[in-house]
Amino acid sequence: MYGSYENRNVNKKRKPLLNHFIGSYVKTFLAYAPETGIRLNSASGGVATALLKYLLENSIVEAALMPRIVFKRGLTYGLWSIVKDPEDIPKYSGSIYAPTYGFSKVLSYALPKYSHIAVVALPCYVKAIRRLLEHREKNKVDALIIGLYCLNTPSTWATKYALKYFKIDIKDVVSVKFRGRGWPGYTTVMLRNRIIYIPSSTFYGSGLGQYFHSLGCYLCSDHTNSLADVSLADPWTLPHEPIKRLGGATLVVVRTRRGLEVFEGAVKAGYIGAIEVDPVYAVQDTTLLKLSRRVLRRRSNEYALPPSFTTIVYEMLYRAGRFLASREGLWPLLRLYHRVVRPPALKAASALDYKLQTTWAKVNTNIKLLQRARVPRKIYSLAGLEVNEGSQ
Ligand SMILES: Cc1cc2nc3c(=O)[nH]c(=O)nc-3n(C[C@H](O)[C@H](O)[C@H](O)COP(=O)(O)OP(=O)(O)OC[C@H]3O[C@@H](n4cnc5c(N)ncnc54)[C@H](O)[C@@H]3O)c2cc1C
Ligand code: SF4
Repeated sequence: MYGSYENRNVNKKRKPLLNHFIGSYVKTFLAYAPETGIRLNSASGGVATALLKYLLENSIVEAALMPRIVFKRGLTYGLWSIVKDPEDIPKYSGSIYAPTYGFSKVLSYALPKYSHIAVVALPCYVKAIRRLLEHREKNKVDALIIGLYCLNTPSTWATKYALKYFKIDIKDVVSVKFRGRGWPGYTTVMLRNRIIYIPSSTFYGSGLGQYFHSLGCYLCSDHTNSLADVSLADPWTLPHEPIKRLGGATLVVVRTRRGLEVFEGAVKAGYIGAIEVDPVYAVQDTTLLKLSRRVLRRRSNEYALPPSFTTIVYEMLYRAGRFLASREGLWPLLRLYHRVVRPPALKAASALDYKLQTTWAKVNTNIKLLQRARVPRKIYSLAGLEVNEGSQ
């Protein structure tokens, strides 16, 4: 099964509507690195790692640009690097939920030096790279852009908050790895004398992923990395049980001809296993959230959906939470606020949306119905499970 993919016909009639939510695309897949070590050590299914290995080992690109996580004196960030040896690629696996530095330095070194590069980047970085490459007259570079979906980037001190939340003494922490050890996986906190594993969703959901990002991230609408050649995401919208059993998988949105050529090349060469899935799985709850107009934003043409009770409450929770997150002395209050105020507020807002049948509720319902109806059965056999109608 590994290293092969099934070419199912997808319903082309829905394409214009989905374009609205996920940008242009050619095909969508559920994919994974067949190599267990890569798959288990990665953010979701190890597709970025496997694809980069394929590109470097087969000399399709000369260098790959990507960040690596650093933890120093309680602060967390990513540092951009240029990788030429495919053996080094797995050291970069996993997600960095923190700002990354050194991108422009690495890019200005790589652009005059190489003619074929690959870059792994978040949507705002991809936008900048595309603009830069478009305006480049000399030394045209062929850059393959592997984009990650992006809800937001927490600040450098957000990890410190989360470690405190879990009552871990910062002085003892040697390193933090946000994702890995299967799917959705664990955050690994390496201490001087032991290792602590915290479910990634719990670590991210402690407030780290909810209040520590900038207003820029909050206003950003490009969740799915619409300008990349290939966008990669967690497969939240597909049945979780077989994906957990498999040890992880990545949802892949192939957007360009070049992206398809490279992705199919990696599949044929056995670096990636994949099944084609309906593009409706590329729409996540957070995709719709980021496409909804913010109440406190005047210019709003980039948002495709009107605000709803859910998005307004989400905005209020973020703004108050952001204030509490900005002062370390207020973190105990933030913890309380996150635990006591957030869950009932979001529940009540969602109930109102569904009761009054707002656009938000209608769109969500329709997307969920389509997603429930189109689960590819092959997912179950990938993980060695019987097809289970009830588990969808
Ligand atoms: C800040 C952030 C927010 C995300 N938000 C969502 C979301 O809302 N929904 C969703 O479905 N998926 C989201 N993702 C993407 C998802 O978590 C996985 O990164 C994606 O599925 C690829 O997994 P993989 O196993 O194929 O990657 P891996 O094989 O683990 O490789 C990951 C690659 O990404 C690079 N990388 C890691 N962090 C960064 C970063 N901050 N900037 C640039 N490159 C980086 C690494 O250097 C490595 O090359 C987010 C990722 C990040 C980093
Ligand atoms: S949310 Fe938008 S602005 Fe923030 S890091 Fe992600 S792509 Fe960039």
